[in-house]
Amino acid sequence: MTDIKKLRTYKMRVSEIITETPDTKSFRFKYGNLEPLDFIPGQFVSIKTNVNVNGEIKPINRPFSIANSPTEKSYLEITVKKLPGGILSTHMIDNTKIGDEFEVRGPYGLFTYKEGMADKLVLIGGGSGVVPLMCITRYVAAKNLNTQILFLDSNKTPNDIIYHKEQEMIQKNHKNIKFIYTITRPEGTGWTGITGRIDKAFLEKYDLYKDALYYICGPPPMVEAIVADLKDSGIEQSRIKIERYH
Ligand SMILES: Cc1cc2nc3c(=O)[nH]c(=O)nc-3n(C[C@H](O)[C@H](O)[C@H](O)COP(=O)(O)OP(=O)(O)OC[C@H]3O[C@@H](n4cnc5c(N)ncnc54)[C@H](O)[C@@H]3O)c2cc1C
Repeated sequence: MTDIKKLRTYKMRVSEIITETPDTKSFRFKYGNLEPLDFIPGQFVSIKTNVNVNGEIKPINRPFSIANSPTEKSYLEITVKKLPGGILSTHMIDNTKIGDEFEVRGPYGLFTYKEGMADKLVLIGGGSGVVPLMCITRYVAAKNLNTQILFLDSNKTPNDIIYHKEQEMIQKNHKNIKFIYTITRPEGTGWTGITGRIDKAFLEKYDLYKDALYYICGPPPMVEAIVADLKDSGIEQSRIKIERYH
């Protein structure tokens, strides 16, 4: 349930834009004088701005997971992947500049990780579905928690891996955090690592701890398929948390 006491509606300006992949950017909004949002890793905000839709200016709002760790108190970060034909994501990737104003409302959501919930986490995502998983990972890394993280990240091509360099740094500095990448369209990319979708055969190559918590985020068909695979492999429904991007 949304914690009404923590809910805020802020007008915030873009203070930094980071190009993550050819179709994905991160947007930072400095808090300045505003009180930092009090959120739990994995939650999301609703972003609203005016967009030119077929020549008409309309207020458009969409949910976006919070990308930064809540230990970061100076800015709020979201990461947006452009959906072909999508109104707000196209506006964000193609037209948004530093200084542009957005209404930011949140935090919302139950796809959350709190310290002490589990000793082991298996985080499974694809494309922009990695955003709340990265928030959880950044939090565990920032707080130097012992929580063991296995992060399974599926992308079309190696160039689509969001946060790749930072993930490599985190893995180097935190022995408890491991990233596994799989590429679904490796042809012509020179990728020599794991290929194919995250399915039952893929999952069963890794330690599917019965006592871990499983977080899955991405488009609904992917989320549903992975939940079914995990349950087939003996993971209890109560240990599986999902966020569907629709
Ligand atoms: C809890 C939550 C968190 C999320 N977090 C993130 C995140 O961190 N990062 C991220 O990138 N996304 C995230 N999303 C998805 C995000 O909210 C948007 O749905 C996404 O950015 C697309 O919005 P849009 O306005 O660009 O697309 P829309 O305009 O809503 O269109 C979506 C798709 O539908 C198609 N479409 C639109 N209209 C029609 C039509 N009439 N007929 C047929 N097809 C049509 C478009 O081509 C496009 O592919 C999240 C979603 C949820 C629910």
